[in-house]
Amino acid sequence: MVRKTPSGMRDWFGLFQSSTFENGTCHLIAGMGNTGVIETEGGLVLFDLPIKQFGPRLFREIRGITSKQVKYIIYSHGHFDHCFGYDPFITEIKEKGWEMPQIIAHENLLKRFEKYRMLDKYHDWLNKQQFASVGVRRQEMVVSAHETLDPTIIMKGYEPYSFTLGNCTFELYHDKGETDDSIWLWVPEKKLICAGDLMVSSYPNVGNPYKVQRYPKDWAIAMERMMKKEAEYLVPGHGQLIEGKEKVKDVLLSTAEAMHFVHDEVVKRMNQGKWFEQIYHEMLEIYPDKFKNHHHLREIYGCYRFAIHATYRLYHGWYDSGNPTDLFPAKSNDIAREFIRIVPEEKYLEHATSLYNEGKLQLALHMLDVIIKGSENERSAATLEALNLKIRILKEKTKEETSFIAANIIDNAATQIKEKLRELKKI
Ligand SMILES: [Zn+2]
Repeated sequence: MVRKTPSGMRDWFGLFQSSTFENGTCHLIAGMGNTGVIETEGGLVLFDLPIKQFGPRLFREIRGITSKQVKYIIYSHGHFDHCFGYDPFITEIKEKGWEMPQIIAHENLLKRFEKYRMLDKYHDWLNKQQFASVGVRRQEMVVSAHETLDPTIIMKGYEPYSFTLGNCTFELYHDKGETDDSIWLWVPEKKLICAGDLMVSSYPNVGNPYKVQRYPKDWAIAMERMMKKEAEYLVPGHGQLIEGKEKVKDVLLSTAEAMHFVHDEVVKRMNQGKWFEQIYHEMLEIYPDKFKNHHHLREIYGCYRFAIHATYRLYHGWYDSGNPTDLFPAKSNDIAREFIRIVPEEKYLEHATSLYNEGKLQLALHMLDVIIKGSENERSAATLEALNLKIRILKEKTKEETSFIAANIIDNAATQIKEKLRELKKI
C-alpha cells in the first residue's frame, strides 16, 4: 500500500522489525499501528489490531511465534488503524471451534463507531487527503466502520478495569489525549505499558487540522500517570519499542512537558485578551529548543503548530480574529474580485513573483489567491501563470515540511491544482 514513505515516517507505518522482549513472552508486532502481544499460560492478550489491510500480516507474524489461543483483545481507541485488522483471527477461531475472545474498549469508542457510520463518506474523503502521498487517493473506501468487531467488556468513565490471565495481571486505565476513548495497559509482571496513540514516534497528533477536538492537558496527565508505573518497556501506537526504565521515563516526561507547555502558554495568552493570530505567532517565537530537538518530539506526523490550534479551540469559539468584518464575511471570491477591479491581476502576479523570488512564499500565496479567486477569466494568462506559480510554491513547501499531515495537505492541493490547470488548458 505504501508507495512513497517520507523520511521519518517508516516507523510510523510499521516498516521495521517487530520486537520480542521480557524472556520471549512479550512482542511488539510492527504495523499500522502496532500490536502488543502478551503471552501467558492461559493464552494471549492482544493490545490493538492494525488497519484492516495489515490484519493478515499481523496474524502470520503472531502465528509464527505462538499457537496459543487469543483470549482478550483490547482496543486502545477506535481509530481505523487500531481495531479493524481482526478478520484472520475470527476465521481461525471459527475453524478451531474456539470461544470468542473478550473485546475490551472504552464506552466512548461505541459513540465513535456510530459517528464513523454516520459520516462514512466524509471520513473516506478526508483520510484520502491526509494520506494522499501513500497512494490511497484512488482506492475505493480505504477504511470503513460498517463492519466492526464490537466490545464485550466496556470501560466507563475513568473507572479502571483489571483482569488476570495465566500468571499475569492486566490493568487498564482511561485517559484522554488523541481521543476521548483512549485506554492504556499496564502489566506489572512484565513491567510493560501499551500506550496506543498516547505515545507515537512523533510530536503528539494533537490539533490535526481535519479532526475533532483533542486534549493536550489530559495528554500530559496521562503521561504522568504512566510515569508512576516505572515501566521497563513501552509499546507505542506507532514506532519502535521503547526500552529501558530511563528511556521510557524520558519520553513520557518530555511529552508531558511539551503538552503542558503548549497548553499553559496558549491559556496564559487567552487570559491576556489576545486573539488567535497574535497567540499563534507569539507561540512560534517561544518554542523551546529542548522540545524541538528531542528525538521523540520530532514533527514527523503531528506538530507543535497544530497543537496551538488544538488548545485555543478547546476553550474558544470559532470567532477567533476579534475583527467584526470576519463575523459574517462576504465570499472570498467577491472580495478578491474587488481587489482586481482596483489593481489589475497582472500587477498582483508581478508582486507575487517578486515575493517568491525574495523567498516570502507564504505572502506570495496570499497574493496569488487574489488572482485565482478574483479573476473574471479563469483562463486568462495571469490566472494560468498564478496557478503554475502556486503549484511551484506548494511543491517547495511540501519538500520543506516535516509533518506528514501538513505535507499531505499541501501536496494534495498542488496535485488538485495541476488537474484543474490541465482541464483549463484543454478547452
Ligand atoms: Zn494510530
